[in-house]
Amino acid sequence: MNTVGLYIHIPFCKNKCFYCDFPSFSGKESLMVDYAKALSKEIDNSCQDKLISTIFIGGGTPTYLCIEGWKIIAESIKNLNFVSKDFEFTVEGNPNSFNEEQLEIFKTMGVNRISMGLQAVQEHHLKSIGRIHTIEDFKKSYIMLRENGFNNINVDLMFGLPNQTLAEWIESLEQVIELKPEHLSCYSLIIEEGTKFYNLYENESLILPNEDVERDMYAVTKDILKKNGYEQYEISNYAKKGFECKHNKIYWQLNNYVGCGSSSHSYINGIRYRNESNIEKYIGRMNESNTVVVEEFKNSEKDDIEEFMFLGLRLNDGIDIREFQHRFGVSIFDKYKDIIEKYVHMELLNLEENRLFLTSKGMEFSNQVMADFIL
Ligand code: SF4
Repeated sequence: MNTVGLYIHIPFCKNKCFYCDFPSFSGKESLMVDYAKALSKEIDNSCQDKLISTIFIGGGTPTYLCIEGWKIIAESIKNLNFVSKDFEFTVEGNPNSFNEEQLEIFKTMGVNRISMGLQAVQEHHLKSIGRIHTIEDFKKSYIMLRENGFNNINVDLMFGLPNQTLAEWIESLEQVIELKPEHLSCYSLIIEEGTKFYNLYENESLILPNEDVERDMYAVTKDILKKNGYEQYEISNYAKKGFECKHNKIYWQLNNYVGCGSSSHSYINGIRYRNESNIEKYIGRMNESNTVVVEEFKNSEKDDIEEFMFLGLRLNDGIDIREFQHRFGVSIFDKYKDIIEKYVHMELLNLEENRLFLTSKGMEFSNQVMADFIL
């Protein structure tokens, strides 16, 4: 039986944030129950013969899903085969979208980790990026989670926002740290095509912090979080000891995972699968033919090697060079000797005790380094 991480996609949001290019939609609430039924079928079909090591329910805004939808999904989760009883089980949500009834269902399902999107603590920034909650809403939801016994919480923050100053970014970090979440994800804003921000950017009506300020924001993040007991374990992720996200590590270590729901991707034994992304079509396909996969792609060995490299290098622990040899039957130096030597010499990569990893400086230039590992 394959051991896999299970990702479940909930594609509904109350409103679309201005920067977001995730496969999520507003105004489709009437489809929630039918979607949950189709999703539940897919979970039953895809996971019967798998051993589940982690679950991550993401979106979209999973906590926006109606209670009836959650009850349907809970029925499917109950029947899965788990590696162990206390496996990591995350649900993503946004401030203002949690309620007591839903949290009770989460507890019976075994959810033990909540990931909450916040992005910034200044009301004007929340508004200007299209978030529909206030900082007070966030604090109320956070307290509600703690009162309900959730003792593993991640908070998402974003830097490099339009007109954001370094001082404001520090204020966001410090206010969140006061609440003592176990985990923080700190991503920089990327302007993605198809978003409201993309159009504004194209029209030159979006003022973004310059590269130097962004670099400072990244650097202070590491410092401030370290001083407060959070270890960086991935380019954008920080955790208290023992609270690293196990599910995301499955992606970064190129291990097997199954994705259920519209737009989901799976990776099983070297084959990538992509699901139908249109919600209506997803429901229709599931009901009519029991299959929602619209693309199947066998990774070549070259694809696997490249992905193993640039995903693994995101982690502070980097890549285990023995694992490379074991997976691909060839030494990492046969493939990348010159590149490794070049970046070790430039002090962007380090090689120590069988591990190859980005140095602190290397993390800042990670895109440049990783691009060189494309064969
Ligand atoms: S809540 Fe999350 S998924 Fe939904 S639009 Fe905003 S960023 Fe995208």
